[in-house]
Amino acid sequence: MDYDVAGKLCEVKSSIPEGVTLVAVSKFHPNEYIEAAYAEGQRVFGESHEQELSKKYDTLPKDIQWHFIGHLQTNKVKYIAPYISMVDAVDSLKLLKEINKQAAKHDRVIDVLLELHIAQEATKYGLTIDACRQLLDDGEWRNLNNVRICGLMMMASNTDDENQIRSEFIQAADFFDEVKAKYFADSAAFCQRSWGMSHDYKIAVECRSTMVRVGTTIFGPRVY
Ligand SMILES: *Cc1c(COP(=O)(O)O)cnc(C)c1O
Repeated sequence: MDYDVAGKLCEVKSSIPEGVTLVAVSKFHPNEYIEAAYAEGQRVFGESHEQELSKKYDTLPKDIQWHFIGHLQTNKVKYIAPYISMVDAVDSLKLLKEINKQAAKHDRVIDVLLELHIAQEATKYGLTIDACRQLLDDGEWRNLNNVRICGLMMMASNTDDENQIRSEFIQAADFFDEVKAKYFADSAAFCQRSWGMSHDYKIAVECRSTMVRVGTTIFGPRVY
């Protein structure tokens, strides 16, 4: 292996405050990269393609907590429902209901985050702030006993404009407070604000992120 995963991981870990969860995004990287991070104590990994994840799940240690961080198609939920630790990017009621249904089959409660679309880019998935309010107002989620909504997730615009990135994180953090007060005041589980990737995680933690998803900085560039 010609890349210092262990060293990079330690650098990232030392640059985020204690209490912020590091999701090591290992998509498109081979098992030996994940094993190198695992040997350093990393247990939380993020993947965004079902087949790749299922292959890694089969062959890597079972105490890894796998996060599904990408856009999840409803027909793929059944494959990851037996073992997934968190689905980070729920962007519709339909997906939430499917996760609930598949989780019930395995007698599990699956942790999820609702994904917001705040960035000024059509390419990104997620619920607009209004759509997220609507989903929560609608109330059907309250009957879904096999999913647990643990917070919000979002990606900022892919830009070098730090002010833009910061303003999007702050919008997300403010909306988190609104949602927490209105729907989850008595849920200790609703506590996660997942924002920040390789190029913006330091700004994200300044804007109250509790969970950063870092790939490239730990594992190097992805080869697609
Ligand atoms: C790939 C990905 C990341 C990690 O991106 P890097 O720039 O490599 O750190 C984080 N979040 C999501 C949703 C991703 O798809």
